[in-house]
Amino acid sequence: MIVGPKKSRTPPPPPPKSPAAVVIVGAGAAGAAAAERLRHLGYGGPITLVGNEAPGPVDRPNLSKDYLAGTAPEEWVPLRTRKFYNKINVDLLNDETAVELNLLRKTVVLGSGRTLSYDALLLATGAEPIRLPIEGSTLPHVFTLRTLADARGIIGAARTARRAVVVGSSFIGLEVAASLRARNLEVDVVSRDRVPLERVLGARLGHFVQEVHQERGVRFHLGTSVRAIQPHAVELDDGSMLAADLVVLGVGVRPRTGLAEKAGLEVAEGIIVDSFLRTSASSVWAAGDVARYPELRLGTTVRIEHWVVAQRHGQAVARDMLGLGAPFRDVPFFWSQHYDVTLAYVGHANTEDVIEVAGSLPKRNATAVYRRAGRVVAVVTIGRDRQSLAIEAALEHDDGAAVEALLRA
Ligand code: FAD
Repeated sequence: MIVGPKKSRTPPPPPPKSPAAVVIVGAGAAGAAAAERLRHLGYGGPITLVGNEAPGPVDRPNLSKDYLAGTAPEEWVPLRTRKFYNKINVDLLNDETAVELNLLRKTVVLGSGRTLSYDALLLATGAEPIRLPIEGSTLPHVFTLRTLADARGIIGAARTARRAVVVGSSFIGLEVAASLRARNLEVDVVSRDRVPLERVLGARLGHFVQEVHQERGVRFHLGTSVRAIQPHAVELDDGSMLAADLVVLGVGVRPRTGLAEKAGLEVAEGIIVDSFLRTSASSVWAAGDVARYPELRLGTTVRIEHWVVAQRHGQAVARDMLGLGAPFRDVPFFWSQHYDVTLAYVGHANTEDVIEVAGSLPKRNATAVYRRAGRVVAVVTIGRDRQSLAIEAALEHDDGAAVEALLRA
């Protein structure tokens, strides 16, 4: 029997700082993680978590995967119950939109007219899907996917639809394609990209993901775009038509910066923050998809749309609000699921990086390494989760020798 250290029943020591009131705008991955971490660190003051998405924080990645495919029940989608938030004394508002931020008075005005005062404020407003400015993009059978309500809408339409067109070969677009195939719909994917996901993964892995989908019957129309959407068809640039009684747009997102911009915070394709995730105004932090932050290893600023990054941002902000902060240095991580293939991505690469693939893609047992000036900046694994975790830890410690050893093992 392994005997671990006895759990201490003594509460954690009080944190160095204790803001009089914390307000968090955005009840998503980053906002929810911040609220929970504040309590975990022993903060006893009031926390208001303002969201406009019932029922409250949800497992967003599930919305394009098992829930959409019909293999996960809706009970799995909420991250926490209302009872949980009551228990940790977090005031969750799930139908309120923050409409105005006053940096001088330190107040947030809600759509209902209520005003909240803060001593520390986190903006975690996430991102919103882009709706193409083309004819027919607001027809009732055309969807984007961000919220549980969006996913419910797609599922409702899929019950009677026979043919779906997914516009965009992004991770979300392709995951939607896989989920709709699981519901036995015919699926066409239309994308401007010549190779799906090439800009993120490189051509070889992009082709592999495309083949995985083709094996399941997805048809691709690449290097083209949609000219218009009609009630039962999608018209492509070359004038050809694809029958469609359901259309899902997966063409990217925009950071929700409106509130911050109106208040006068520094914004440039995201709310600009420093390495502590502090914005240009004192007592205001930003986290998650909306934040553009310094990637200290790469010496550049990035805005990253990953679940785990958003959660870790939220936790980092909680620490900083309580005087326990440190520069954010976590290595980005995300995963994406396509039928029986799950890709795990650690690090941050761009299109100029050199890519090597080792192992066997057909056997779903492979590693892709992305190098810049010889240095490993990102690694994608398929069927090698342990290697992925170990490399993430080594990258986190800036231990290049350990990364190389793990890649050789
Ligand atoms: P969000 O989770 O979007 O939360 C922001 C919240 O703020 C929303 O509820 C929004 O309604 C609310 N809000 C905005 N403005 C206001 C306002 N003014 N007042 C009140 N509330 C407001 N990432 C991965 O790493 N792996 C995956 O497999 C993956 N799959 C995904 C699948 C789908 C379908 C989607 C949409 C995303 C996926 N992501 C995935 C991305 C991941 O979900 C996001 O990176 C993450 O949710 C970002 O968290 P966030 O807290 O910044 O924003």
